[in-house]
Amino acid sequence: MATEQPHRVVIVGCGFAGLFATYALRRAPVTVTIIDRTNHHLFQPLLYQVATGVLSEGDIAPPIREVVSRQSNVRVLLGEVVDVDLGARLVRTSALGQSGAVEYDSLIVATGAAQSYFGHPEFAEHAPGMKTIDDALELRGRIFGAFELAEGESDPERRRAWLTFAIVGAGPTGVELAGQVIELSRRSLRHNFQNIEPHEARVVLIDALNTVLPAFHPSLRERAARDLRELGVELQLGTRVTGVDAISLDLQPSDGPSVRLEARTKIWAAGVEASPLGRLLASATGAPVDRSGRIEVLPDCTLSGASRGLRCRGPDEVEQLSRGGRGRYAVGVALRSDNRQAAARKGGAEALRLPRLRNAGDNRAVSRRR
Ligand SMILES: Cc1cc2nc3c(=O)[nH]c(=O)nc-3n(C[C@H](O)[C@H](O)[C@H](O)COP(=O)(O)OP(=O)(O)OC[C@H]3O[C@@H](n4cnc5c(N)ncnc54)[C@H](O)[C@@H]3O)c2cc1C
Repeated sequence: MATEQPHRVVIVGCGFAGLFATYALRRAPVTVTIIDRTNHHLFQPLLYQVATGVLSEGDIAPPIREVVSRQSNVRVLLGEVVDVDLGARLVRTSALGQSGAVEYDSLIVATGAAQSYFGHPEFAEHAPGMKTIDDALELRGRIFGAFELAEGESDPERRRAWLTFAIVGAGPTGVELAGQVIELSRRSLRHNFQNIEPHEARVVLIDALNTVLPAFHPSLRERAARDLRELGVELQLGTRVTGVDAISLDLQPSDGPSVRLEARTKIWAAGVEASPLGRLLASATGAPVDRSGRIEVLPDCTLSGASRGLRCRGPDEVEQLSRGGRGRYAVGVALRSDNRQAAARKGGAEALRLPRLRNAGDNRAVSRRR
C-alpha cells in the first residue's frame, strides 16, 4: 500500500519572517524546505556594528542549518528563487551557476526588502547601502580604509575629504550609523595614528526631510537630534542628494542653492523597496503592487487580487497550516508597513533565541556575491 507523501511547505527566505514561519511549523505534519540565496540567517539590526568593526560577521549571521538543526522536519537549500510556477506548484532556483526546481504544496515567501536609491541605482557604486553581510563588510573596508588613507595624505584638503563621512538617510539605520562612526573616531581610533587626529573626522547626516527619525514621536526626534549634535554629528536636514561620485556628493537644500560636499565615504541608509519576488508574484496572481513594489494586502494579510488561488497570509494562516491545513500560501511578501513592523518585532523576539555560535567571529557565511 502506497504511503501518502507528507505535505510539502517551501519557505523562500530565512530572515526573521522565514525563521518565524519555520518555528511555527515545528510540530506540524509537514516537511519544510527553506530556500535562501545565502547560507545564513542575518540579524540585520546589528549590521552597523559589523560595519564599524565592533562585531564580526559570524556574530550576527549564523548558518541557517545550525539555527534549525534541532527541527527534524526541515531541510535547507542554498539557492536564489528566480521564478515561481503557480500552475505546476514549483519554484525555480539558481545557485553558483546551477539551476534547480523544488515542488511545493504550500509556499511561504519571506524575501524581505532591498535598498532603494529612488530611481538613481548609479549612486550605489559610491554609496553602498546596508542590508547584507556583504554590504557591512564593504562599508567596514571603506570606513577603516578612509582613516588609513587620510594618514598617508599630505594635502590638507584631500585628507579632509578622506576624513568626511556622509550618511544619507536619518532614519534609525542612519542615526545608529552616524553615532557609531563618530564614536569610532572620537574613542576607538583616538590613539591609533601619528599624522591625523581621528577625532577631527566629520560625520554628516543628510536627509530630505526636516527631521531625524521621522517615524518617531516629536519629543524623541528632538532628543535624538540634540544628542547627535552633542556627539559631534553634523545634521544636514531638508536637503536632497542629487548626485554622488567617488569623492563628493551634490546636495540641494530646500531653502538655498546647491552645494558640493567633499566626502570620500558615503553610506546610503535612505530607503527600501520590496524584494523583486514580490513583483513576480504580483504579476502571476494579478495582485496590485505599489511604487516600492509592495503587494497590496488586506488587513488579514490575504492578497486582494487572490485570483489564481494563491493567497498571501500572515502568522494566523501559518498556524492553521501547522495544524494540518492545506492550500498554497505566501507570507512576508513586502506586506504593508504596519504588518511588516509587527512581523519584524515578532521575528526579532524569535531571533533572540538563536544559538550563540561556538566560535565568535566564525566566518562560514556564504554570501550571494561570492
Ligand atoms: C541596518 C538595519 C537595522 C535595523 N534595525 C532594526 C531594529 O532595530 N528594530 C527592528 O524592528 N527592525 C530593524 N530593522 C529591520 C528588520 O531587520 C527587518 O524588518 C527584518 O529583518 C525583515 O525580515 P524579513 O524576514 O522580512 O526579511 P530579511 O531579514 O531581509 O530576510 C529575507 C531573506 O530572504 C532571502 N532572499 C531574498 N530574496 C531571495 C530569493 N529570491 N531567493 C532566495 N532567498 C532570498 C535573503 O537572503 C534573506 O535571508 C533593521 C534593518 C536594517 C537593515
